[in-house]
Amino acid sequence: MSNIYGGRGLEISSGIGAEVKDSSGKYYIDFLCGNGSELFGHCHPALMKAAHEALNYPWTCSPGLQNTARDGFRKILSGLMQNGKVFLCNSGTEAIEASIKLAISISAERGKRKKIIALRRAFHGRTMGALAMTFNPVYKKSWSEFLIPVQHVKMEEAADAIDNDTAFVIAEPMQGEGGVFPMSEVIARNITEKCKRTGTLIIADEIQSGWGRCGAILASHDIGLEPDIVALAKGIAGGLPIGVVVWKGEIGDFPARGHGSTYGGNPVCASVGIASWQLLLQEKLPDRAVTNGNTFVSMLREINSPFITEIRHKGLLIGVELTLKSEPVVKALQDKGVLALPAGPQVLRFLPPFVAEERHFREVTQILKNTLEEIEP
Ligand code: PLP
Repeated sequence: MSNIYGGRGLEISSGIGAEVKDSSGKYYIDFLCGNGSELFGHCHPALMKAAHEALNYPWTCSPGLQNTARDGFRKILSGLMQNGKVFLCNSGTEAIEASIKLAISISAERGKRKKIIALRRAFHGRTMGALAMTFNPVYKKSWSEFLIPVQHVKMEEAADAIDNDTAFVIAEPMQGEGGVFPMSEVIARNITEKCKRTGTLIIADEIQSGWGRCGAILASHDIGLEPDIVALAKGIAGGLPIGVVVWKGEIGDFPARGHGSTYGGNPVCASVGIASWQLLLQEKLPDRAVTNGNTFVSMLREINSPFITEIRHKGLLIGVELTLKSEPVVKALQDKGVLALPAGPQVLRFLPPFVAEERHFREVTQILKNTLEEIEP
């Protein structure tokens, strides 16, 4: 077996809502949730129903054919942007690849533009195009000579770096993997204004922040970032593989045969996507993300530990900055029945599902407090 993931020494055998059990029957609160993709919790009845029904029909449908589930989901997604156009694929990194290709082909129609701007600490995926946009040099070092050139700038310097030679700027409205850093409204507005003035396209990577996790369907819109192209993935189909690109119709389109995906928008994932959309609206889940995120963070802020330097969050994307390495803390939490993940070397990240309850937040807070108290200063 390849060793690329290391391994957490844990086999999950069942899960309901925000809780999972391992193969020995031990219980965990799951705030890792498939790296954020189990946004609705495990085995959500409405999503299970949609998936079961869809399994009775063809599982894949060739891209050129019509399909009720795929067309229905596309229609929902197109409503996210003005005259929105939609491309469906199977993962976050694929959504970024498609967004890059789309932005390059459209910007070529706006004159010769050579610059691509991304942000320091950005994470956009690991395929070759997405990897070029990702900042962390550790992830890139074996491939750096083969990556397209990208200028990585500090978030607060992005607007100044954009000029008439810039093809596009790509940004997460809320950085996740890079350490949980929210983009401020001022920065979002400055980037938007500069892009409008220079005819530069904005790609928002909402793979982790979008679909309600950060308190809005698109976190960008919440902070005043006005993307031309949005990439979504993770929780959209409740944990089934999916990637989405939505863009403003007025900016243009892919050239004919310029991109494609065999499984993109397959009827099973699309059906679950429709059900997840209905849940978002009916149960006002983005609002719940705000309330629950605030509840959890206020509990975390009660922990009086010399090892916590800052807590940053937007909705249910939460980062606890430590003076310690985050990985051993993640491991210690796992041993005590809490699943979390690191976001960079010193940030502990929690990605609770919408269905997490106050008792889960309380228990995780207590376990984190105990874990930090056991560490020698
Ligand atoms: N972009 C962001 C912001 C992400 O958080 C991730 C995954 O963590 C990706 C892109 C890549 O998505 P995937 O792992 O589905 O390819």
